[in-house]
Amino acid sequence: MESCPYYRKCSGCQLQNLSYERQLQFKQVKAIKLLGKFCHVDEIIGMDYPLHYRNKIQAAFGYRKGEIIHGIYQSANGNIVPVKNCMIEDEVAQEIIECVSKLLLSFKMKPYNETTANGFVRHVLVKRGFESGEIMVVIVTRSGNFKSVRSFVNAVIKKYPDVKTIVQNVNDNDIKLSLGKRNIVLYGDGYIKENLCDLTFRISPQAFYQVNPVQTVKLYNKAIEYAQLNGSERVIDAYCGTGTIGMIASSKAKMVMGVELNENAVEDAKANAKLNNIDNIDFICADAGKFMVDLAQNNEKIDVVITDPPRIGCSREFLHSLVKLKPNRVVYVSCNPKTLARDLNYLHHNGYKATAIKPVDMFPYTEHLECVCRIDKI
Ligand code: SAH
Repeated sequence: MESCPYYRKCSGCQLQNLSYERQLQFKQVKAIKLLGKFCHVDEIIGMDYPLHYRNKIQAAFGYRKGEIIHGIYQSANGNIVPVKNCMIEDEVAQEIIECVSKLLLSFKMKPYNETTANGFVRHVLVKRGFESGEIMVVIVTRSGNFKSVRSFVNAVIKKYPDVKTIVQNVNDNDIKLSLGKRNIVLYGDGYIKENLCDLTFRISPQAFYQVNPVQTVKLYNKAIEYAQLNGSERVIDAYCGTGTIGMIASSKAKMVMGVELNENAVEDAKANAKLNNIDNIDFICADAGKFMVDLAQNNEKIDVVITDPPRIGCSREFLHSLVKLKPNRVVYVSCNPKTLARDLNYLHHNGYKATAIKPVDMFPYTEHLECVCRIDKI
């Protein structure tokens, strides 16, 4: 494996200096160190081809010494590193970013300058469905005034017919690489479709969707296996995003309730249930913790809780109500083993025990570690 020329500047791939074999060993050891006290940690599931796995990529626009550049934010100081061939990002998506960048510049769209508050383009986001081939391009701008928009759109779709939608997202907050609330659909439906585990999912700009589709199948299959469903269960899919895990579980359960805070993701999730003719699933737009409190207050009968929180883990409120609901089993999908350890510690003191832990390498070359954990009521 050739080392990446941007390694030191970009700092996105913290494990660049290790062979893939060694990276897996490193993550296995890390998982055992943080989680081994709760239960045996199974062998990590790696990738056969651990490169160009990211289906979602973004390029920041800015200036360096007066020149317009685009690339990746350097984590240390927020400067833009003009990366051309990133080894973990999808190659087609990178090509599109390059093309779109050139077009934007030829249409005299200036990058937004944070110091002077002048300019237009903040960043470009591309999502590509690896199975469906459908591509979404999102141009994130500071204001809404997109000049020559028709010519721009026509130029993109002529060159890349797989681009099924182009969206302008207006972001006037100060957070880098974030999306604002306002989407202006310039072309197509405003979302793409992707196939995963025999289902079809609609993905919109703001909704979370797993970035490594090859490993996602393995992760979800493990989560479903750990849920041990027999068709009679009432299941919660907490932090459900676009409803992926819950929808896969729905064919093996009596009913599923998905809860998610991001309203765009919930809209996608509801549309996804319809798209796949699934009628034993409901999606609720709410804070997962508050939702669990309500369920516990209403003495709802819940058999299995699947939870897939962001890096901060489950809230105390969530865990407190989960324990009150007394499901037989919890399946915890975690992207941060430290908060997983904290939450397992709580569950171990409150009538539950981890009975299986499987690390899955969702983010080769980076230090990030994903684990799925089965937790049983004792
Ligand atoms: N299970 C999904 C999404 C996991 S990512 C999948 O595999 O695709 C975590 C999700 O939690 C994100 O969609 C995020 O919007 C959501 N989220 C973050 N904080 C939340 C909260 N307090 N309550 C409910 N959902 C939340």
